[in-house]
Amino acid sequence: MSAQAGPPLPGGTTLLVIPPVAELREQAVQARLKAGGYLSENAWIHRVLDEVEIRLRLLEDWGYPFRKDERGETLRTHLHGPEYMKLMRRAVRKAGVRILDQSPALELLADEHGVGGARGIDRLTGRTWEVRAHAVVVATGGCTFLSKGLGCNVLTGEGLLMSAEAGAELSGMEFSRQYAPSYADGSVTRGRMLAWSTLYDAAGRPIHAGGSHLRQLTQTAAGGAGLRLHRPRGYG
Ligand SMILES: Cc1cc2nc3c(=O)[nH]c(=O)nc-3n(C[C@H](O)[C@H](O)[C@H](O)COP(=O)(O)OP(=O)(O)OC[C@H]3O[C@@H](n4cnc5c(N)ncnc54)[C@H](O)[C@@H]3O)c2cc1C
Repeated sequence: MSAQAGPPLPGGTTLLVIPPVAELREQAVQARLKAGGYLSENAWIHRVLDEVEIRLRLLEDWGYPFRKDERGETLRTHLHGPEYMKLMRRAVRKAGVRILDQSPALELLADEHGVGGARGIDRLTGRTWEVRAHAVVVATGGCTFLSKGLGCNVLTGEGLLMSAEAGAELSGMEFSRQYAPSYADGSVTRGRMLAWSTLYDAAGRPIHAGGSHLRQLTQTAAGGAGLRLHRPRGYG
């Protein structure tokens, strides 16, 4: 296993957790279907939500320190990046996996019989490594390394390229490009927090007065030429 760490590490992951109540589950599935323009498949949404339930219980069994509510019930709604990564590393090590840190895979070993391993480099020593295996799972994330999205600097798209070179077919790529408003001088481009900000046009008139809905902000930005974001008082 070659590891570097993507978006879940520097920040946190908010989890969509639906209590196991049929009516609530159905409402959540319908909401997801609508949000996706009815392009997704019902069965897959159910499968993902089932997996969320199973995997989060497993994480708790492994010792993830989820917070509890006032009745002592576990709140499985958020994962703290470093805490989560520490636990995952411990779990895979215990299972006998050798972790190669800072060691990107650069090519898949493939011939006419299929893929039988990978080759890459250790960035700290400059040495190359090679692993032969009966099966290879490519889980190298997306291709967002220039986006300044938090944790995205390591998502170079190499895995997608290597897979395509080995003959894999990529699907859904038309949905992989998204633009969102962000603060021009910021170090990351995460737009979510901006939903609560007040935006002004070039003449200083407020055109977005905050709120929790990112969609509302995106619509404002799309319609507002010359949009300028003012820093809240006392900020940096
Ligand atoms: C700012 C931000 C906030 C997000 N917030 C949430 C949230 O709150 N809730 C939620 O559910 N989702 C959230 N997401 C989405 C979520 O992070 C991704 O969907 C998820 O991380 C994808 O998981 P993955 O395992 O496919 O890839 P990643 O988690 O991106 O992992 C890919 C890994 O592959 C490594 N890698 C890349 N190239 C190579 C290579 N050549 N060789 C070896 N390793 C390589 C990377 O270093 C990285 O560790 C967020 C994403 C971003 C960018």
